Amino acid sequence: MAVISSASNLSKYLSLDQRGKVQVEYIWIDAFGKLRSKTKTVDQVPKEASDLSEWNFDGSSTGQAEGHDSDVIMVPVAVYNDPFRGGDNKLALCDLYNPDGTPHKDNHRHSCAKLMAAHADAKPWFGIEQEYMLFDPETNKPYGWPKHGFPGPQGKFRMAWPYYCSVGAGKIFGRDIVEAHYRACLYAGINISGVNAEVAPGQFEYQVGPCEGISMGDELWMARYLLDRVSEDFGIVVSIHPKPIKGDWNGAGCHTNVSTLEMRQEGGLAAIEKAIEKMSKRHMEHIQVYGEDNDQRLTGRHETGHIDKFSYGVANRGASIRIPRHVGKEGKGYFEDRRPASNIDPYQVTGIIMESIFSP
Ligand code: ADP
Ligand code: MN
Ligand code: MN
Ligand code: MN
Ligand code: MN
Repeated sequence: MAVISSASNLSKYLSLDQRGKVQVEYIWIDAFGKLRSKTKTVDQVPKEASDLSEWNFDGSSTGQAEGHDSDVIMVPVAVYNDPFRGGDNKLALCDLYNPDGTPHKDNHRHSCAKLMAAHADAKPWFGIEQEYMLFDPETNKPYGWPKHGFPGPQGKFRMAWPYYCSVGAGKIFGRDIVEAHYRACLYAGINISGVNAEVAPGQFEYQVGPCEGISMGDELWMARYLLDRVSEDFGIVVSIHPKPIKGDWNGAGCHTNVSTLEMRQEGGLAAIEKAIEKMSKRHMEHIQVYGEDNDQRLTGRHETGHIDKFSYGVANRGASIRIPRHVGKEGKGYFEDRRPASNIDPYQVTGIIMESIFSP
């Protein structure tokens, strides 16, 4: 039986006076790219991350440290409102350090933050489209799929595509979760820009951005945390595997939209083309940090470009990089890197994009 937290019981306790104390949820990324968190009571409402002290966790229980020297140091880097506890309570995203002060090997934020700081003048903006699929833990099948067999096909050229942006019973499964997550993001202060149901049944997307610099990685990780927590309340599991269901079903990506101040200004298309040219020369290096099992997704089918070959074009959803049609028309704006998989680390992806577009 799915474990569903009894919300009405809990709300009774959540309305009790906290007597001036604040609960802060310290959140970190584990060795497998999953999120973990634990709670600390503090005496004052933190206004920013630097108001919060460092903390630690037992790395030997998460596969992030050996037992004999198991403390991993958590340093809060971004603070958000807590939609689960409400009030003045906060969520604190942390990055990780070894006891000697060096960045922990799972801390990909550290080097990304350096790159973003070095090119802060360029005002880099990112927008990430996070695709995911909801799973029913009882059946291990996508949420809403029949117990036996498969739902009707997602569509073929000029044949019914029932699920994408769909409305109505039997076509969309999990709207409650999507809605709850959307509002939780807004409450927390995440710059979520939209949501839509995707091509496969049970598959959805939310977009976070535009976010400047390091905040892209921070906000996407926090949006993922919020979705995991919301789905937990519904007894549903979120998968960000790039090809959760084999066969003729769309995989899941994290299209990464990118611009600099120069690209957004009059005539910015030239800067966009220059950046794409630089990125094309490092295709395989990018692919290396664009998600595990991404080869199962980047087949050249299902709205993807092939993993072995770099391509780009205006309005081309079968390319590695797409220049949106309106950008081509206006001659300025941004480009979309369609290669990143749904399970990327956004710090690594935005980091290598910065490295490439600012390479000599
Ligand atoms: P698609 O047509 O590929 O499905 P979406 O509307 O899902 O596009 O997502 C577009 C993303 O691009 C959004 O996250 C949005 O915030 C982001 N975006 C818009 N303008 C810019 C820009 N100038 N620079 C970077 N990202 C941008
Ligand atoms: Mn203990
Ligand atoms: Mn989209
Ligand atoms: Mn999509
Ligand atoms: Mn897209």
